[in-house]
Amino acid sequence: MLKKVLIANRGEIAVRIVRACAEMGIRSVAIYTEPDRYALHVKRADESFSLGDDPLAGYLDPLRIVNLAVETGCDAIHPGYGFLSENAEFARLCEKNNITFIGPKSTVIDKMGDKTAARDSMREADVPITPGSDGNLADLDEALSLAEEVGYPVMIKATSGGGGRGIRRCDSAEELRQQYPRVISEATKAFGSAEVFLEKCIVNPRHIEVQILADTHGNVIHLYERDCSIQRRNQKLIEIAPSPQLTPEQRDYVGDLAVRAAQAVGYENAGTVEFLLTGNEVYFMEMNTRVQVEHTITEQITGVDIVREQIRIAAGEKLSYRQQDIQYRGFALQFRINAEDPKNDFLPSFGRITHYYAPGGPGVRVDTAIYTGYEIPPYFDSMCLKLVVWALDWEDAINRGQRALDDMRLHGIKTTATYYQQILNHPDFRSGHFDTGFVPAHPELLNYSDKRRPSAVALALATAIAAHTGW
Ligand code: ADP
Ligand code: ADP
Ligand code: MG
Repeated sequence: MLKKVLIANRGEIAVRIVRACAEMGIRSVAIYTEPDRYALHVKRADESFSLGDDPLAGYLDPLRIVNLAVETGCDAIHPGYGFLSENAEFARLCEKNNITFIGPKSTVIDKMGDKTAARDSMREADVPITPGSDGNLADLDEALSLAEEVGYPVMIKATSGGGGRGIRRCDSAEELRQQYPRVISEATKAFGSAEVFLEKCIVNPRHIEVQILADTHGNVIHLYERDCSIQRRNQKLIEIAPSPQLTPEQRDYVGDLAVRAAQAVGYENAGTVEFLLTGNEVYFMEMNTRVQVEHTITEQITGVDIVREQIRIAAGEKLSYRQQDIQYRGFALQFRINAEDPKNDFLPSFGRITHYYAPGGPGVRVDTAIYTGYEIPPYFDSMCLKLVVWALDWEDAINRGQRALDDMRLHGIKTTATYYQQILNHPDFRSGHFDTGFVPAHPELLNYSDKRRPSAVALALATAIAAHTGW
């Protein structure tokens, strides 16, 4: 088993990994840059090291991180999500230095971390993919003729994109001409690669993804699916496991497809295969070769500790479970509480958290790195807390979500919490019928009052005073 793990990440996921290490008797080493000096992952890890003043550079420096792992006597690195997690060079550097990379082999990251390479592998493995490019686009002319072939609307996507960025829908040749250079420049800026490809746009699909686990002994299992259709601008807001809108046949079909996809590329460790569903059709979209933000809800319905399994697999152990051991129970929802102002086009709202009171009670889990007095730095992702609820049935899970969002107090910054309560109240959401078009179709859900609902006592008192004074 591993003895000491360096965590090449920050925020809630770094804390999540520290927790897994602590439970497994593994020492953890945190890294941080100066704006994160007072961050929770720094306090919670067994050791922590500063990687300089620049907010980002340290987290993105493969050589420095691997060297630090060697110097501090670590035997492995956990990359978390984002940052270097899908960087094949980083994984290669670990391999070269005898540091175990907690993830798949670098050659598999090359194959699946790159969206067009992944499409090629899936085509070979007979996994259905969205109609579109063979490889990257050479130029606008190729994009235009391919779009004619597959039919509008189409999507132009950054090959090494992630986090919902570098994706544009084009409804006509004119739009394609406009968007093509924009995606290239966005891809270059955000991902350091100008490569883009084209796919048919599936109009208002459901986003269904399957969590898989694969060990180094050839065993691959899936932990059922998550429904991440509640998105804004291709970014997930609320995630649900299992999907309330799959038939048992569809569930088995996507589960098997994901296992087949993983087997086809010799996948090892935890990964997610993302699909788009429309009617009865299923298309492979991409594979994320890392732990995902929403792994929490799968943990809640299956009881499997995914980060622990990642560490065990990396240490060369066999999976703790066979497919038939995996059962799911109830429904789990995750709310990504972002430091953003929904009423102001979701503008980031960084600053000091003047007061934080965690929600709790039955079926509630919080993964976060914030605390009262913590100042959210403006350099990183705006997600500041993941609120996860679980209940035996769908309606109870929604009601628990409402209650837990009500429970939570997070003052000093604007967040998406109240907006999520509006979504939970919507009859389409409650009935379990929604797709990726839900958020754009319901702008009215943004018209809520920022004031907290007055309590029943306060309302009765106000009415009594009004009656008494003759208002
Ligand atoms: P998930 O796929 O786990 O649902 P997201 O797509 O929301 O996660 O991304 C999680 C974090 O990782 C975000 O901060 C996002 O910007 C970052 N990220 C994801 N993919 C990439 C990538 N290819 N390059 C850089 N950052 C990425
Ligand atoms: P990222 O790496 O940023 O997660 P994805 O390829 O997973 O990018 O796409 C993110 C989201 O964009 C999807 O969940 C979906 O809502 C939307 N999307 C991507 N490709 C398509 C498509 N071909 N048709 C319709 N929607 C798409
Ligand atoms: Mg994705």
